[in-house]
Amino acid sequence: MSRILVVSLTERGRFLAGRLPYERSHGDLAATVRERWGDVDGFVLMAAVGACVRIVAPLLAGKDTDPAVVCVDDAGQFAVALLGGHAAGANDLAREVAELLGAAPVVTTATDATGTIAIDRLPGFVAEGDVAAVTAALLDGRHVSVDNSLGWPLPDVLSRRLGDEKAGATIVLSDEVAAPSGPGIALLRPPSLVAGIGASTAPPADEIADLLAEALAEAGLSRSSLHCVATIDRRAGEPGITSLGLPVVSYSSDQLAHVDVPNPSAVVQAAVGTASVAEAAALLAAGRGATLLVAKTASAHATVAIARSARPLGQVTVIGLGPGGPATRTPEADRALRSAEVVIGYEAYIAQCRDLLGPSQDVVMSPIGSEVERARDAVARAALGATVAVVCSGDPGVYAMASLVFEESADTAVTVTVVPGVTAALAAAAALGAPLGHDHLVLSLSDLLTPWDVIVRRVIAARDSDLVIALYNPRSKARDWQLGAVRDLLLERRAPHTPVGIATDVGRPGGSTSITTLAELDPELVGMTTCVIIGSSSTRVIGGRMVTPRGYRRHRPAEDPA
Ligand code: SAH
Repeated sequence: MSRILVVSLTERGRFLAGRLPYERSHGDLAATVRERWGDVDGFVLMAAVGACVRIVAPLLAGKDTDPAVVCVDDAGQFAVALLGGHAAGANDLAREVAELLGAAPVVTTATDATGTIAIDRLPGFVAEGDVAAVTAALLDGRHVSVDNSLGWPLPDVLSRRLGDEKAGATIVLSDEVAAPSGPGIALLRPPSLVAGIGASTAPPADEIADLLAEALAEAGLSRSSLHCVATIDRRAGEPGITSLGLPVVSYSSDQLAHVDVPNPSAVVQAAVGTASVAEAAALLAAGRGATLLVAKTASAHATVAIARSARPLGQVTVIGLGPGGPATRTPEADRALRSAEVVIGYEAYIAQCRDLLGPSQDVVMSPIGSEVERARDAVARAALGATVAVVCSGDPGVYAMASLVFEESADTAVTVTVVPGVTAALAAAAALGAPLGHDHLVLSLSDLLTPWDVIVRRVIAARDSDLVIALYNPRSKARDWQLGAVRDLLLERRAPHTPVGIATDVGRPGGSTSITTLAELDPELVGMTTCVIIGSSSTRVIGGRMVTPRGYRRHRPAEDPA
């Protein structure tokens, strides 16, 4: 949702509104809402539900045109999705506002509240047509018939609800534009299509988008069914491809050269080492048993081909949960978690996101130490069509699962996306003060996967470059001597009074921080969930907090706006 307006009436409301990252207005609530009704996507009204109902009632025109309305009480305890739950996104807006204010979201739309997946929220599918009629029928327990000539596997939640008695409503599963439609019919667009794209260097901005749109239109295929675009690795970052707004899957020329295609080209073969890019990439990404629906079609600088998968292609999203509870998770992580069908993670990380998991999600807990199995399991489930989330603490790309999931998914058609999180070093730094104010690096002391002599080499390099050092995995029951050894190595060149911050379980219950010096660093005070930050020669303790000055106060050029 793009244009959100927060309107407040009281001083307390104005204060709460100030904490929301949307456009704000203060004063005459009723007049502002009337005036802006037609030009915003959503309102957050800092007023009682009763007052809001009276204000919006005369303005209501219809479910498809009314904006979302969320109201928040003066104490900031509740964010109520009053109007436009699904269609206008008020449920999501209420959750987002609640998250930002530390309030409880109040969502009363039946499908959301009971945990039944609404058909317009089925992961991977796009719902069009008379969604309301089908949703109502499903909610009432009436039978819904399904026209699935494509033979696309139905998600479990849906197939459990279907019967073959006289149907009140119909779901049509199709990736074709000309599929049946009308009152009582909802169209579900499955993620069945893949567009393969070839391009010369820097084609004009819209050329690829236009060519793709033409290819879809000529074949009568719906853009809503495009699962991803596929290309050769050297074009994966091409702006004309990334700007299509779809996941990009890319392959080496070697991988593409092994695909049988109807229209190989000797010219392309000579230029990039494979006789086909568009057709080969489309077929490869669409998986085993795929059919080529649109053979290579070309414009001046690009080629497009479209393939249909024989079965669903899944996705894995590797999600960073931040260091602790919901307050330090990003809204993007919340969204990705809610829309996953399967959530996989180490027990402690599953516990960290329990508040978001619903009854329809398949939750798979895996023990620590079985990371490879966890990644393989995630990719295998995704390959069968599931939307899989792998959860990690902090950031998923920092000493965590993201890189492993990419490795395990190589040579599969599974797409992998990464949702970042606040990594331990940043959370620890904030809890300690501002120790990362100047150049710094992170090092893991775990020698389970990295030989100890490599770690020592890096510690020495960091020490001699006078960088602030954030240590991950500084100590565990089985690795109890490494931190003392690193302290002694650092003391050979760094002053004994160098500040050292110890931050344990930041953002979690029982979390603690302390500041000591390098000479006095006691490994006994450090555990498995501690991040240790070692200062540089300029790090100081200011008012009990650890700070590495950037140098603004020493060096401030006259024209420097800072
Ligand atoms: N992906 C994680 C790091 C995993 S490695 C991230 O980006 O944060 C595990 C190490 O991270 C732990 O040994 C500890 O050094 C650090 N760590 C993780 N959570 C922490 C927390 N809440 N407080 C302090 N350190 C933490």
